[in-house]
Amino acid sequence: MSEDCIFCQIVAGDIPGRTVYEDDTVLAFLDANPLSPGHTLVIPKAHHERLNDTPADVAGAVMSTLYELVPAVESAVDAPASTVAFNNGEEAGQEVPHVHGHIVPRFEDDGGRPIHALVTDRPELSDAELDAIESDIVAEQA
Ligand code: 5GP
Ligand code: ZN
Repeated sequence: MSEDCIFCQIVAGDIPGRTVYEDDTVLAFLDANPLSPGHTLVIPKAHHERLNDTPADVAGAVMSTLYELVPAVESAVDAPASTVAFNNGEEAGQEVPHVHGHIVPRFEDDGGRPIHALVTDRPELSDAELDAIESDIVAEQA
């Protein structure tokens, strides 16, 4: 637990949360400032700042909870779709530094936008630059 982390305080029961799923590893609760009805956050109970810092088995448990919850959340609020995403790091908009996946139920004409609206100035990358990025990412996994 990280003392000044708001999500750790929810896990500890020091701050109330509307829990929709819980097991030994994962907690899911309603977002306090929802982007739509049913906006849900899925977190590991242990404090890990970003996906990059999260052990693979814990990240897998978070993903499998997202997988189980997406249809339940959509059905509960009668949503035909949802945006499922992580703001992974401060520059990506992460405000609470305890890794969390968002399930944001989406509705026809809800005024929301797709993930492609995240960035307005897209880079123009040549084929050579794309090739270099491809091989760099492959090399990083070696
Ligand atoms: P981020 O921008 O870090 O990806 O998202 C943080 C989310 O946490 C926001 O959607 C915000 O509304 C939610 N949030 C912040 N503080 C609390 C809280 O104390 N309780 C709950 N349930 N959600 C919170
Ligand atoms: Zn925390």
